[in-house]
Amino acid sequence: MVDRAPVKAGKACLLKLTLLFIGKNMGETKGAIVDGSYELLRILVHYSGHFLAPFVLARLLFPKEIWLKAALVMVSTIVIDMDHLLADPIFDPNRCSIGFHPLHTIWAGLVYAGLVLVPDWRARAFGLGALFHLAVDANDCFLGGTF
Ligand SMILES: [Zn+2]
Repeated sequence: MVDRAPVKAGKACLLKLTLLFIGKNMGETKGAIVDGSYELLRILVHYSGHFLAPFVLARLLFPKEIWLKAALVMVSTIVIDMDHLLADPIFDPNRCSIGFHPLHTIWAGLVYAGLVLVPDWRARAFGLGALFHLAVDANDCFLGGTF
């Protein structure tokens, strides 16, 4: 029998180094006093806010029969980030998306809030997901000092 432990340890080490490298470089582009591990935590909070938290929210807020579909609709609100394509540069780590990109403004937020009032679970899930998306982005701006 072949011992796979060294391969597993090697893979884990490579993953750690990759994550540290991403975190460190994000920290440097910000030119801030934060270190790589803080930036890594910020990235994890941001993306789990977009892709994992909607499942928890949907499980709590929607009936058992549709919570998973509602969660997927909520995750699909990531499409509002398409408005970044209108900006130049498309991605700027020192820019807060809230209030800058058209689908991340207070006006867009009011439309999302209106969708929550529509008596249809799909519209509600999208409105709620989009509002939560704005909250996750605002939190990221706050953590990055760009809010
Ligand atoms: Zn966004």
